[in-house]
Amino acid sequence: MADILPFKRPSKKTTAWQKHKGSSLCRDGFHKWQVVTERKFDVKQGKLVTEYRCQRCGKTKTKLL
Ligand SMILES: [Zn+2]
Repeated sequence: MADILPFKRPSKKTTAWQKHKGSSLCRDGFHKWQVVTERKFDVKQGKLVTEYRCQRCGKTKTKLL
Protein backbone atom coordinates (compact mmCIF):
# COMPACT_ATOMS: atom_id res chain seq x y z
CA MET A 1 0.00 0.00 0.00
CA ALA A 2 2.82 2.36 0.86
CA ASP A 3 4.29 1.68 -2.56
CA ILE A 4 1.55 3.59 -4.34
CA LEU A 5 2.56 7.17 -4.88
CA PRO A 6 -0.34 8.96 -6.54
CA PHE A 7 1.68 11.99 -7.54
CA LYS A 8 4.45 10.09 -9.24
CA ARG A 9 3.24 10.09 -12.81
CA PRO A 10 6.03 10.44 -15.31
CA SER A 11 6.83 12.11 -18.59
CA LYS A 12 3.51 12.05 -20.47
CA LYS A 13 2.15 14.84 -18.32
CA THR A 14 5.20 16.95 -18.95
CA THR A 15 4.48 16.88 -22.66
CA ALA A 16 0.87 17.85 -22.13
CA TRP A 17 2.03 20.68 -19.96
CA GLN A 18 4.36 22.03 -22.60
CA LYS A 19 1.59 21.99 -25.16
CA HIS A 20 -0.64 23.79 -22.73
CA LYS A 21 2.07 26.35 -22.16
CA GLY A 22 2.24 27.02 -25.90
CA SER A 23 -1.45 27.66 -26.26
CA SER A 24 -1.57 29.75 -23.11
CA LEU A 25 0.89 32.07 -24.82
CA CYS A 26 -1.77 32.50 -27.47
CA ARG A 27 -4.38 33.23 -24.85
CA ASP A 28 -2.14 35.93 -23.43
CA GLY A 29 -1.96 37.51 -26.87
CA PHE A 30 1.47 36.19 -27.86
CA HIS A 31 0.53 34.55 -31.13
CA LYS A 32 2.99 33.22 -33.61
CA TRP A 33 1.85 35.24 -36.58
CA GLN A 34 2.64 34.14 -40.08
CA VAL A 35 1.72 36.11 -43.18
CA VAL A 36 -1.01 34.37 -45.15
CA THR A 37 -1.76 36.95 -47.80
CA GLU A 38 0.04 40.18 -48.44
CA ARG A 39 -1.92 43.06 -49.83
CA LYS A 40 -5.28 41.43 -49.74
CA PHE A 41 -8.25 43.66 -50.41
CA ASP A 42 -10.58 43.59 -47.43
CA VAL A 43 -14.10 44.26 -48.67
CA LYS A 44 -15.46 45.10 -45.22
CA GLN A 45 -12.89 47.80 -44.61
CA GLY A 46 -12.54 48.79 -48.23
CA LYS A 47 -8.77 48.80 -47.87
CA LEU A 48 -5.71 46.75 -48.62
CA VAL A 49 -4.66 44.61 -45.68
CA THR A 50 -2.11 41.96 -44.85
CA GLU A 51 -3.62 38.79 -43.48
CA TYR A 52 -1.90 36.85 -40.70
CA ARG A 53 -2.57 33.48 -39.13
CA CYS A 54 -1.20 32.07 -35.89
CA GLN A 55 0.79 28.89 -36.46
CA ARG A 56 -0.21 27.52 -33.07
CA CYS A 57 -3.94 28.18 -32.66
CA GLY A 58 -5.01 29.11 -36.20
CA LYS A 59 -6.41 32.49 -35.26
CA THR A 60 -6.37 35.09 -38.02
CA LYS A 61 -5.98 38.82 -38.05
CA THR A 62 -5.62 41.51 -40.64
CA LYS A 63 -3.44 44.56 -40.54
CA LEU A 64 -4.04 47.71 -42.52
CA LEU A 65 -1.28 48.76 -44.82
ZN1 LIG B 1 -2.21 31.78 -31.42
